Amino acid sequence: MSVNRDFFAERDFNRDFQESGAPEGGWAQAARLPGAMVPTHCCFCGVQCGMFLRVRGGKVVGVEPRDFPHNRGSLCPKGVVAYQQVGHPQRLLHPMVRRGGKGGQLQRASWDEALGYVVDRWKGIQAEHGRDAVAVYGGSSMTNEKCYLVGKFARVGLRTRHVDYNGRLCMSSSASAYARAFGIDRSPLPMTDIPLARCILVVGSNIAECFPILTRWLWAARDRGARLIVVDPRETPTARTADLWLAPRPGTDVALLSAILRQVVHDGRVDEGYVRERTVGWEEARAAAEPFTPEEAERISGVPAARVVAAARLYGGADPSLILHARGIEHSTHGVDACLACINLALARGQVGKPGGGTTMLTGQGNGQGGREHGQKANQLPGYRHIDAPEDRRVVAEAWGIPEEELPGEGAAATEMVGLMEAGRIRSCLFMCSNPLVSLPDLAQVERALARLDPLVVVDFFLSETAERADVVLPGTVWCEDEGTTTNMEGRVLRVRSAAEPPGEARRDWEILCDLAARLGRGAWFPHRTARQIWDELRRVSRGGVADYSGITWERIDAEGGVFWPCPGEDHPGTPRLFTERFGHPDGRARFTPLTYLPPAEEPDGDFPFRLATGRTVYHYLSGTQTRRLEFLNSQAPEPWVEVHPRAAEGLGIRGGDRVRLTTRRGSMELEALVAPTVRPDTLFVPYHYGGAASVNRLTLPAVEPKVKIPEYKVCAARLDPLGASPRTDRGPRRNFTADTRPDMFPYASGEGRSAEEEEGKAY
Ligand code: SF4
Repeated sequence: MSVNRDFFAERDFNRDFQESGAPEGGWAQAARLPGAMVPTHCCFCGVQCGMFLRVRGGKVVGVEPRDFPHNRGSLCPKGVVAYQQVGHPQRLLHPMVRRGGKGGQLQRASWDEALGYVVDRWKGIQAEHGRDAVAVYGGSSMTNEKCYLVGKFARVGLRTRHVDYNGRLCMSSSASAYARAFGIDRSPLPMTDIPLARCILVVGSNIAECFPILTRWLWAARDRGARLIVVDPRETPTARTADLWLAPRPGTDVALLSAILRQVVHDGRVDEGYVRERTVGWEEARAAAEPFTPEEAERISGVPAARVVAAARLYGGADPSLILHARGIEHSTHGVDACLACINLALARGQVGKPGGGTTMLTGQGNGQGGREHGQKANQLPGYRHIDAPEDRRVVAEAWGIPEEELPGEGAAATEMVGLMEAGRIRSCLFMCSNPLVSLPDLAQVERALARLDPLVVVDFFLSETAERADVVLPGTVWCEDEGTTTNMEGRVLRVRSAAEPPGEARRDWEILCDLAARLGRGAWFPHRTARQIWDELRRVSRGGVADYSGITWERIDAEGGVFWPCPGEDHPGTPRLFTERFGHPDGRARFTPLTYLPPAEEPDGDFPFRLATGRTVYHYLSGTQTRRLEFLNSQAPEPWVEVHPRAAEGLGIRGGDRVRLTTRRGSMELEALVAPTVRPDTLFVPYHYGGAASVNRLTLPAVEPKVKIPEYKVCAARLDPLGASPRTDRGPRRNFTADTRPDMFPYASGEGRSAEEEEGKAY
C-alpha cells in the first residue's frame, strides 16, 4: 500500500499541534504541578478531538482547545464538559457487594472481599458447569490496551469462549461489509480528505449531532463546490442544509441504494476500467440491481422516483465522490447489505482508493475502531485475526505462551449472550464499561436474563442501570485517569494521557483484570504493571495481522500527531490511505456483492401504524451513563421525547408538548410529543440514551442481522396515543420474520447460540 505523506505536509494539517513529547517525569507527574496542561483526546465519539485538560493541584479543572489535525481547536458541547466526570460527586469510590441475596443491598466491601467473592464463585461455576458458563462483555469506549486485555483475560484468564462487546450493537454491520468487500475493516481515508470530494452522499448519519466537529470537513468541501446529498428519514441539521434530501421509510435503504446504482449504470457513469482491473463480481451485482427502477424504489422506500434519479446524477457526475454512512443503515436486520450497497456504488464509480473518494464508516464510540481490532470480539484474536483460522490461532497462542488447543473457539455475540443467560447456560458475566440495561433491545427480556446471573459483576465508574442490578460493583476509572491509546474513525492511533489519579479506592480497569487473573491462578500471563507494558505486548501480538500495530510507539504518536495502521515497522510511515493500489484480499481486488431487498423484521399494520426509529441527540452519548450526569448536557435533554409529524399528530389529536403513550408489541412508555415536520409522517423518532421507564429499548424489537447479530434499532411497528386513551393490548406476532421462520434473526428466543449452518456463513 502506498502512502501519501506529502498530502499532509502540503496542507499543513499536522503542523504545530503543540505536542512535542512528554515533560520529564511524564504528563501524569506534570499534571500535579500548578496549572499544568495535559494534551489528550475527547472520550466521546469516534472523531477523538484533541484537547488540553487543565490540571491544578492534582485535579482536572477545565479544558482548552488543542490545534489537532482533525479538530483544529474545536470541541462540541460534549467535549467541552467531558472533564467534569473526573471529580463528579456520583463517582464510585469503593467496591460494593450485594449482601442478603438478590433482594439485598449493595454495600461497601474491600477489594479483597469483592474480588475474592467473584473468583470463588467463578471457580465453582466453571467446575460445575464448564468454563463457558462464565462470560465477559466489554466495550469500545475503553483504550486499546484495555480492549486487548479484556479479550486476553476471557480466553487466557477465564478460559471461556464467551467474550464480546458493545460494539456488536453499533459497528458490526459496516465491519463485516468492509472486511468482505475490501479485505480490511477500516475506513480507507483520513477525514482531512473530505474537502477533496466533489459530491458527498451521507447515508443514515445525523452528522451534525453525532459527530459535530466532523461537520467542519463537510463545510470545507462545500466551500470548494462539493454537493451534499443526505439520505435520512428525518430532516436532521445535516439534511436541512443539503442540496438534495432523500427521506426513505426506515429499513428500505438497500432498495434505494440499488436504484441509485442502477441509474448510474443506465447513465453510463460506471468506471469500466476500474471495475475490470480492480474488482470481481460486477456482472452479478449489476444484474441484481437491475429490477430496482426509480419507480420500484419509490414504491418500496417512499422516495419520489425523480429524486432517486437526481441523486444518481449528482453522485454519478462527481469525481471524486465520497459516501459517509453510519448507524442509520447499520441498525437493521439487513445492515450488512445496506453497507455493501454503499460499497457497490462507490466501486462502480471507481472511487475507493482515490484521495477524497470511496466510502467511510462513521464510528460512534470513541474507540469503536480500535475496540474491534484487538480480540474482544466473539470471533476474533488480536491484530484482527480470526479465532477459527489455524495459523492465526497458532501465532497468538505462541505469543501468549499457551498451547494452541487451550485457546477457546468462537463464542456467542453480545446479543446471543442474552438468550444463553436466560437459558442458564451463561451463569455469570463480567460487564466492563457497558450498560446493556439501557442499550440492548427488548429490555424486559434483558432484565430477566441478567437476573439469572449470579454473580452479575460490573466494572464502571458510575452506578449505571446495569451496575444497580449487579451483585458485585468494581469501581474503575474515567478516560483521563489512565494512560493508553485509542484508534479513531480514520484508523489513526492516538495517545490518551493520565491527568489525575483514580479517586478513592477506584482502580484502573486493567489493574482489576490483572488482579482477577492472579486470583484465578493465571497471573503469570498478566504480569503488567503499566498500561505501556500492555501496549507493547499488543504491538508484538498484532505483528503480521491485518491490523498490524507493531511499528506504532507512543513516542511516534506524540511526534507525528497519531499514526495510521497498518504500520508493520518502526520505520514504516503508517497508512493514512488504504487501497490506493490493491485491496486486502489475496488477489488484491475488491468484491462486489449482488443484493436483493428484504423488508424489516416488523412492519406497520392497523394496530401499530408507525415505524419507530431510535437514535442520538447531540447532548448525550450512548446509554447516557456519563452525559446524564453532566449538568449542562442533562439540562438540555433531561428526558426522551417522541418526534411526530404535524399531519400524523393532528390525526391523533396530539399537540406539541402533550404527554403521549408510545406502544409496541414489547411494551409502552409515556413521554412528551415533539410535533415537527422534520420526520416522515409514517415514522416516529425517540432518542435512546435514557434508563428505566424512560428507555425506548423497552419497546424495540430483539431482531438482529442474521450473521453479525446487530439489532434492528431503526425500525419496528409502533402506535402513538394521547395520554388517557386506552392502549391496545394486541401483541400478536404480525411480523415479516419471527423466531419460528427466521431463528437466526432472534437469538434471544433460542438460547442456543449459533447453529452449524450459520457457522458456515459467518462473515464478521
Ligand atoms: Fe468529543 Fe466527538 Fe464532540 Fe469531538 S465531536 S468533542 S470527539 S464528542
